Amino acid sequence: MSRSAHPAGPRHADVLTEGHYSAPAADLNVLDEKVWSRTVTRDADGALTVGGITVAKLAEEFGTPAYFLDESDFRARCRAWSEAFGPDADVFYAGKAFLSRAVVRWLKEEGLNLDVCSGGELTTALDAGMPAERIAFHGNNKTVAEIERAVEAGIGRIVLDSFQEIVRVAHIAQRHGVRQRVQIRVTVGVEAHTHEFIATAHEDQKFGIALADGQAAEAVRRALSLDGLDLIGVHSHIGSQIFDMAGFEVSARRVVQLLAEIRDEHGVELPEIDLGGGLGIAYTSEDDPREPHEIAKALSDIVTRECEAAKLRTPRISVEPGRAIVGPTAFTLYEVGTIKPLEGLRTYVSVDGGMSDNIRTALYDAEYSVALVSRTSDAEPMLVRVVGKHCESGDIVVKDAFLPADLAPGDLIAVPATGAYCRSMASNYNHALRPPVVAVRDGEARVIVRRETEEDLLRLDVG
Ligand SMILES: *Cc1c(COP(=O)(O)O)cnc(C)c1O
Repeated sequence: MSRSAHPAGPRHADVLTEGHYSAPAADLNVLDEKVWSRTVTRDADGALTVGGITVAKLAEEFGTPAYFLDESDFRARCRAWSEAFGPDADVFYAGKAFLSRAVVRWLKEEGLNLDVCSGGELTTALDAGMPAERIAFHGNNKTVAEIERAVEAGIGRIVLDSFQEIVRVAHIAQRHGVRQRVQIRVTVGVEAHTHEFIATAHEDQKFGIALADGQAAEAVRRALSLDGLDLIGVHSHIGSQIFDMAGFEVSARRVVQLLAEIRDEHGVELPEIDLGGGLGIAYTSEDDPREPHEIAKALSDIVTRECEAAKLRTPRISVEPGRAIVGPTAFTLYEVGTIKPLEGLRTYVSVDGGMSDNIRTALYDAEYSVALVSRTSDAEPMLVRVVGKHCESGDIVVKDAFLPADLAPGDLIAVPATGAYCRSMASNYNHALRPPVVAVRDGEARVIVRRETEEDLLRLDVG
């Protein structure tokens, strides 16, 4: 759907009768720890601090807009995931959520593996020293050049996504004299989204090979017959921002069923299954994500139970959280520019960034929270829409939220939970300069991705 064809917001009557917002929090100065990274707090003067540094100091040193990433929170989440799943499972961080060389080093140090889905992500991972065998390569249209590089590097696994790719990867591996470890991505007929999932018989989407009509079984047949391939398992990824484990349950059951069919037909028990990512995080106080240990227990219980029923050895499980690791660890800091109260509607608060640093609201109607962070305030709550500075009425960062009525130009406001799919989807629309990512830890702040400059823009424009 074209967002520009979409009304910019509810009309007056909608606002009064069926606002998309919940009531303001009792005290706007209180930061809901669910949506903020772990070291975020307010100091004695009421200013938000992260890693022990106040936002005023961060804004002065690094400018706005900027993403501030809480490194110790990121590392703690990596550890929580790998401890929850234990030594008999593998956690792959989905690099597309946010990838930089510093992040790759943290992942390596914390013992995680890494998913990439392009040559650029692969280069970043290898350059920062991630061992190739700990990398998985995804994508529905990997180029021949990308596959060549992955195979040459000795990548741990390639997740095959189509019949053409099965043959393509097999040929390339054979040419290099290797047997490439691969998984086959299957679509299990489950579409999961936040609080509900839909089980369907067939799949109408670009990823994977459908279990329905025996397509996936045929893909397995072909992969097993090719010398260049070492088929280690089956992969399923069912959606994003999921809270309800029921979708994973259906997915795991169908994947295990396929393993049983493979055993019956070929006499081989594939040793691994990958249940993908998509675990939800709290963007607002309404969201209640599960802890990694609950997710790990739920998934391993399902797989164990289904395997017992099918008399299969329990395969090694892998999971691929992206958002659930990096999402909650960062916030975007903006400076308030103009403020337009629209009588009887809401107040439009414009910030110095927008859809170029956070496209998710415009793209998916994503919900975010926002807080005044340079100070506290005792003023009444006012209903606001936080918008960017771009030439597009759909340039909305936070659709509906409350900020104190004494908000003024120059105040700093922050949008939490922007660690995933914000910098990685950032654009240069209106020749905006993409903001930096600053890692903050134990009283120290360090740029890990620098702010773009006008020279960067002109360098690509060769005139
Ligand atoms: C995007 C993606 C993920 C990560 O999804 P999150 O919602 O960030 O957890 C994992 N696996 C695959 C195959 C993906 O495409």
